[in-house]
Order: sequence, then structure tokens, then C-alpha cells
Amino acid sequence: MFENEYWSLWEESGVELPKIKTPRKASIKSKNLEGLQEFLGNCKRCKLCKERNKIVFGSGNPKARLMFIGEGPGADEDAQGLPFVGRAGHLLTKIIEAMGLTRNDVYIANIVKCRPPSNRVPEPDEIDQCLPFLKAQIDLVAPEMVVALGLTAARALTQTEHNMGNLRGQFHQIAFKTDLTLMPTYHPAYLLRNPSAKKIVWEDMKLVKERLGLN
Ligand code: URA
Repeated sequence: MFENEYWSLWEESGVELPKIKTPRKASIKSKNLEGLQEFLGNCKRCKLCKERNKIVFGSGNPKARLMFIGEGPGADEDAQGLPFVGRAGHLLTKIIEAMGLTRNDVYIANIVKCRPPSNRVPEPDEIDQCLPFLKAQIDLVAPEMVVALGLTAARALTQTEHNMGNLRGQFHQIAFKTDLTLMPTYHPAYLLRNPSAKKIVWEDMKLVKERLGLN
């Protein structure tokens, strides 16, 4: 039943259909971010829809060279429908500005687009439903570099179970429409609890800046 509903929704959306049998595993194709957001609609594909207020689709420059991906919306993001607008977001803004950029230069999104209750870590089935939309978003923005903020984003994007200590500080190549370079680093919320890790994140961001020629 779910699959049928999903499939008919897909057909109604006018979004180009991939030639494969299982829509849940398909790559979602849309011409632009607006079309993708329209196709996402008032999403009820997973249980996070029950308690969310607003879907946090993502924001920033649709042609950004650099994209930041967090875990999932918190209370402030859920209320405003925008990513990283709370305390952790304020710190992320400072990191972006320390790189010589503004939030309007980059694109910011999350692994899941709806707030997990009590800010718990998103569950595998929730990530499974939401990730195809993020992948489509990444393909549309086509950034040269993605920074994964925190372990949930780093693991979901590298498709590994490594720890942050093993993942951060080095570039990972991930296969999207175009080859994509990924730098995992600590989440700003972690930095709020562990300010001494800020210098580690800055080391990672210096590598990102250098690779993008932003020095
Ligand atoms: N934490 C996240 O991972 N994402 C947000 O948008 C806000 C806080």
C-alpha cells in the first residue's frame, strides 16, 4: 500500500521517472531545488512527520561550491523551517565566517529534514527515507566539497560505521552525479559541549579552504 501511494505520488509530481522497479531505492530526479522541494511536499514518508512542525529543506546558495550537512533539525530549526538557526547554528555561522565566507555563499542541509523527538539521533529507517532527497539536493547544488557535521552525517555520507576520530581530518571521495569530496568534522553542538575541539575543527576547515583555493 505504502509503495503504491508513493509511486502514484511520484507519477503525479511530474518528476522524471527513473527506469527501475523499486521507487524507494530510486534516485529522485528534479530539474531544480524548487521542484525537489515541491516533490518532497508535506512529507509523510517516515514517522518523524508526526511530531515535526516544519520541514527543514535546506538553505543557502543553490550553486554553492561548499555544502555543510548536519544531522537533523533541532527545536529552533523545527520552528523556523531553516537549518542551523539555534545555538549550534550560531557557531556554524562563525565557522563559515572565519573561513572568509557568509551563509549566503554556502548551502546548508541535514541528513533528515524533520526534527527527531527530543533531538534523538535519527533512526536508520528515517535516514533511509530522507537520504535520497539529500542526494538529489547534492546533485542539484553540485558543490565541489561537502562538510559532514558530526558522526550521523559522516557515517550516512561515507556509508561506514567508523568513528569521528578515524573519519575527520582527511578527504573522502564519494560517488554522486559528479565525484564529490567530503570532509567529516565535529558537529557544532559537540563544540558547544567541548570547546577544546574547536581547534581540531579549524584544522579541518583549513584543509577545506586550501582545497577550494580560499586562502
Ligand atoms: N543540528 C543539526 O544537525 N542541524 C540543524 O539544522 C541544527 C542543529
